[in-house]
Amino acid sequence: MQNPNNPFPATLPDGTIVIDEKCRCGHLRSEHQSALRGAAFGHGRCKKSRFCGCQKFSWAERIYKGVPNTPKRKK
Ligand SMILES: [Zn+2]
Ligand SMILES: [Zn+2]
Repeated sequence: MQNPNNPFPATLPDGTIVIDEKCRCGHLRSEHQSALRGAAFGHGRCKKSRFCGCQKFSWAERIYKGVPNTPKRKK
């Protein structure tokens, strides 16, 4: 089931397709609840596991289409 507020997949200006985003808790944005009745898709608490304890989506990295393991970018 697709959430109609799901912004993914999203195409970046360079043509890269973003299919999801990862939270600092290790779960995907699509696995988080939406805040503000879906206006902020996936920005609520984590619903992947009730033991996760994540209360709010915190952006960690993007998940790109066709790239199973996105390497972490060095700062
Ligand atoms: Zn989380
Ligand atoms: Zn989580």
